[in-house]
Amino acid sequence: MPDLRTLKIGFVSGSANHNIVKKPTSVRWLLVLLWSFAAGLTALTWLHVSQLERDAREREIIAAKRDLSNLSRLMQEHAVRTLHSADQVLRFIQAGYKSVGMRLDLNKQIDLGVIDAGIFNQIGVINAAGIYVIGNQTVTPHIDLSDREHFKVHLKDTGDQIFISKPMLGRASGKWSIQMTRRITGRNGEFLGVAVVSLDPAYFSQFYGELDIGSNGLMALYGLDGLARVRKIGAENNFSSDMSRSPYFNQMVSSMAPGGFTTRSVVDHIERMYFYRRIPDFPIIVLAAIETRMMHMHSDSELTALKTQAWLVTLLIIIVSATLTYYFKSVLRFVGAIQLAQSKIEDQVQQLDTVFQLSPGGFLSFDPEHRVSFANPASSSLLGMPLNALIGIGEDDVERLFGTHSDTGQPIISLATLRSDARQHSGTAFRKIVPPGPLKRALAIQMRLSQSASVSQILHLRDITLETEVELLKSEFLATAAHELRTPMASIYGFSEILLQPDTDDDLRKEAAEIIYRQSGVMVTILNELLDLARIESRGDSDFKYELVTVGGLITDIAHHFKTPANRQGPVISGAGLNATVKGDKSKLRQAFLNVISNAYKYSPGGGPVQVDIQTTSLDGVGKVEVSVRDFGIGMTEDQLGRIFTRFYRADTSGAVPGTGLGLSITKDIIALHKGEIKVQSQAGVGSVVIITLPESS
Ligand code: ADP
Repeated sequence: MPDLRTLKIGFVSGSANHNIVKKPTSVRWLLVLLWSFAAGLTALTWLHVSQLERDAREREIIAAKRDLSNLSRLMQEHAVRTLHSADQVLRFIQAGYKSVGMRLDLNKQIDLGVIDAGIFNQIGVINAAGIYVIGNQTVTPHIDLSDREHFKVHLKDTGDQIFISKPMLGRASGKWSIQMTRRITGRNGEFLGVAVVSLDPAYFSQFYGELDIGSNGLMALYGLDGLARVRKIGAENNFSSDMSRSPYFNQMVSSMAPGGFTTRSVVDHIERMYFYRRIPDFPIIVLAAIETRMMHMHSDSELTALKTQAWLVTLLIIIVSATLTYYFKSVLRFVGAIQLAQSKIEDQVQQLDTVFQLSPGGFLSFDPEHRVSFANPASSSLLGMPLNALIGIGEDDVERLFGTHSDTGQPIISLATLRSDARQHSGTAFRKIVPPGPLKRALAIQMRLSQSASVSQILHLRDITLETEVELLKSEFLATAAHELRTPMASIYGFSEILLQPDTDDDLRKEAAEIIYRQSGVMVTILNELLDLARIESRGDSDFKYELVTVGGLITDIAHHFKTPANRQGPVISGAGLNATVKGDKSKLRQAFLNVISNAYKYSPGGGPVQVDIQTTSLDGVGKVEVSVRDFGIGMTEDQLGRIFTRFYRADTSGAVPGTGLGLSITKDIIALHKGEIKVQSQAGVGSVVIITLPESS
């Protein structure tokens, strides 16, 4: 029994639906899209991170520049103040020495508060010979400073520029000092000497030490000669630096505008951001620098946190994408399985559809309201109603189509009763009906209840008319055969009894024995012919021995051996087809022709010739051999003629002619197996012609 759900799919849709599921390629595209999106999202995240990093770096640089600018401004202020106060002292010494010469008492001036020498290692005068002659501290006699640059520079140059030396160990003070000097020029422009203020570089470095610029930060004062006057890196003081060859030095001295640059030190290989300022009125440049690493340190931790978050986001994107991929692939597999199942279902539906279309059995399926929801072509022809008209009709209408009893008007079959039968017999019930009406059909009806939600029951209709007729014929045949055998048997039985009577006279005994003998012969003939028929029907021509048979020769031979009744002539054989040949089993053909010739004699008791005419004909290019056996006997009425091939049928019921009524049936079967044909023309009281046609063969 087919699956009703499957049936429904096939019938409702009418044809296989190929577009129920999407193609797997679209899911593949979806995956490509997903991973492209994931890659895009990741790229965006990292672009954003790098943008933030750039912004942070820029902010840091701006902040660092601002800090350095402020710091250098502070250093500049500090330096300006210091240098100015030193210069004031220098001016004082310059003027004092010029006017009073060696009588200039600096200590007295300090005590009077005219000059403040607190921040200076020493103040004093070097005379025109280069001898340190006046000082605020006890002057060691004859210290010769004529070789010192801060002396020599004024000797050469008559201008009034201040000179600021690089740090050196003071011979007068015995301390590291920056010597600030001015030329003392006499009234007539003669060189009188040099006013000296020794500035302790530590004064600057201590101040710088109070400013936090990191362990590798740099604060320095450079002269326009490129040599460091003060230079502090972290906690270390180092004055021996020469910037004159640095590529940035020109930039530093060429203008008064402050500026900056970033470079890596060739000495300690640390990258720093530098900021410089020229000190107005003094040949000094302030230089401050911070280590770029330090500069970034603050935002580094923030950026690390940001990058960690970005990594987490990336990881999340990958996990989500991988999960979705896994999900989509599962969907893909699922879709594949569905498609496979779908195509199997489609195949099954196709097969079932074909089966239902071609099936000789009728199928009617009913919906839950017991209305016909499907009918196949066979059911339409079995019920004599167009297919379209069957769909939707109820059980009453179906019962009506099966037919109603004309006398009671009741349905010939009740589907409700059939259903209740089915419920009691595992869902299936069966009926045979012979609906009244012109169709004269016998139907086998099987009902099967369905478990499906859309189908309540299915009816299977089978045309059993032929089977029923065959059954009927068989039983009729058996009854006739039994009857035919019983007649001679009854005679044999009765006359045997007479034979057994001791007082039966000899004449009667003889007559009884003769009758018994004759009737036994009849029985033997009937049984032989029945056996012949049975054999032919069950085996067909499987035990026939086919050979080329000359029809004229065969019939002449039959005539030759035929026991012609007394006072009768043998059959007159003639015709153009005497030499025609057919392919056949000689003994079977002999049996067939003998039977017909024998009948011609049997049923022409009044005499007359029996003529056998053999002709060849051609129909549609196929050669035929036609044998006509004609007699001028009793003939048959039309009604008798119509029944002569029915087994045991005998038109002549007088009993005068012996026979079984089986001969022509056997003949017909033999000729049919030779692909031939037998026809009989007859007229009562005139005679009969039996015409046997066989395919010619050579
Ligand atoms: P049977 O043994 O009775 O001859 P057949 O099958 O040979 O049986 O013939 C069936 C019946 O057909 C015969 O009983 C007879 O009534 C009729 N019949 C056959 N051949 C002829 C014929 N040549 N003329 C008239 N009737 C015939």
